Amino acid sequence: MVLEGLWSKNDFKLYMEPIKEIKEKLDIVDVVKDYIQLFPAGKNFKAICPFHKEKTPSFIISPDRQTWHCFGSCNEGGDVISFVMKYENLEFYEALKMLAERAGVELKSISPSGQKEFGILYDINLAALEFYRDQLLPHQEARVYLEERGIKKETIDDFEIGFAPTDKDALILYLVNRGYEIQDVERAGLCFKTERGTYMDRFRGRLMFPLYNTFGKVVGFSGRVLPQYDDGKSGKYVNSPETLIFNKSKTLYGFHKSKSYIKELKQVLFVEGQMDFLMLYQDGVKNVIATSGTALTNYHLEILKKVCDTAIFAFDSDEAGLSAIERAIDMAHTMDLNVKSFTLEDAKDPAEYIVKNPGQIDRLIRHNSLSAFDFYYRRLIEKNDSDNLKTKLRSFLSKILHIASPIERSSWVKKIAEKVGMAEKTIYEEMEMFKGVKKVNVADNKNLENKGNDLNSSMEQIKSRVQRIAMDIFILIMIDRQNVGLVNDYRNYFPQPFDDLLDFIVEDKKPTESSEADNIFSYLEMQASLKNDQIDQEKIPVEISFLLKELKREYLKDRKQELLSEIKKSEQDNNPDKIGELLKEFDEIVKLIDN
Ligand SMILES: [Zn+2]
Repeated sequence: MVLEGLWSKNDFKLYMEPIKEIKEKLDIVDVVKDYIQLFPAGKNFKAICPFHKEKTPSFIISPDRQTWHCFGSCNEGGDVISFVMKYENLEFYEALKMLAERAGVELKSISPSGQKEFGILYDINLAALEFYRDQLLPHQEARVYLEERGIKKETIDDFEIGFAPTDKDALILYLVNRGYEIQDVERAGLCFKTERGTYMDRFRGRLMFPLYNTFGKVVGFSGRVLPQYDDGKSGKYVNSPETLIFNKSKTLYGFHKSKSYIKELKQVLFVEGQMDFLMLYQDGVKNVIATSGTALTNYHLEILKKVCDTAIFAFDSDEAGLSAIERAIDMAHTMDLNVKSFTLEDAKDPAEYIVKNPGQIDRLIRHNSLSAFDFYYRRLIEKNDSDNLKTKLRSFLSKILHIASPIERSSWVKKIAEKVGMAEKTIYEEMEMFKGVKKVNVADNKNLENKGNDLNSSMEQIKSRVQRIAMDIFILIMIDRQNVGLVNDYRNYFPQPFDDLLDFIVEDKKPTESSEADNIFSYLEMQASLKNDQIDQEKIPVEISFLLKELKREYLKDRKQELLSEIKKSEQDNNPDKIGELLKEFDEIVKLIDN
């Protein structure tokens, strides 16, 4: 079975029975031909790919394998469920529901083993939600706190905010009395074993914000300590640990409620925490989303890219917030999303502003959001201190390389030249420095779309993504070189010149001057020094590990692409043996990508 990209193993385990039944009853050809026109091609069918612009069909449906694949520039594929997800822009469960109706399959239950492993975690989280919610009313200090922060009763009800009492084991007792095993409560992340071997509630003396998956099921919690119970030992916010049903990097706070608004407006407002989210939602800005307890990830952006095309980042207006916006913009750019930033001058964050000025922020966001490059300009050039002007200037130049239009780019160069009192020629010369890394840019991706299904250029794109990730990993390693050992198992996935550069880092040397490697090395050193104070050192290993997995994934996709072009060639040469061989290897790669 090919499980590709869009849906996960967990989905599969949970709905194994209905998936099997649906696939037995529905033929992928019947389903797809309701959406697009199919042409017979031997045993298979061909079509104009619905997911990218093209003139000749490179979208193939295989009735034997019950799969589809685009051999053109989007290079995606999957089964009947992922086709419907992608075409209809649906989440896994929604697509499953649709197909189940069509096939006459009842979606009543998840599989028995799935229930034991996963289902019970949903049940326990739901029971905990009910417990915390009921604790809010009797705890006056918690209610007063929410009131002071401006959260209204209807918002509390809507988002099922609760309170975790200060007792060591209030929740444990409640759940065990309801018949749940302590081991399952632990697996759900709601309690933990102390050194003495006793169990303790994870959340104590905290306001509890349930975290939901996209279907609105509670999968974990974020707990904010009440100031009067803050002993300074644990963080202001504590989140559920990752469990079988809760993946932090994929969870977006409030998405189950705001998704339809984001879809409608084609625009999402990104904020940093639950409080900002709740206040904005309450104030009528409903196309909002918050990450919880984690930095923005590519997964978050991939989820959002499916429902909108513009992201506005509205983080705190302090240095940490601004650098988070910068990072977010850089990430969103590689995803080809339109990006804007929004900061407030007279309030720390949106929540604080709304308390003072209810009903105003919507208009403000519409009028005061800055384009990505206006944001960079303000941050790096306009308010410059001459101390590190050079680094900041370089950083800005490295960003405007991303601009597709030469006219727009030159107008920025002109603006900068005037501002810093340099000749435009000097600025252009400085920009030459980044030639080595210039391939990594959005402009190229944009051009790609126009070129349609040109295989060579999409190879370029994939290389670029791998390079981009390798670059991010290097910057983090250069901030704290102790982390270089983390890359050992992933060495094979690094593209050139990064593979060579690794040796320099391991041996703590510099590349020969004015080589291409040296250019990139200097650029990376500069980025590392810029980001040094903005990054929480403790989080670097986790971040690197995440990026390494991404790197591997992208590398495999790259390999997949190579195989595809060989398959295409063998099809032209009419060589079925070779095709079979290649398809086998292709399936292995796809499996690896899934893991
Ligand atoms: Zn396509």
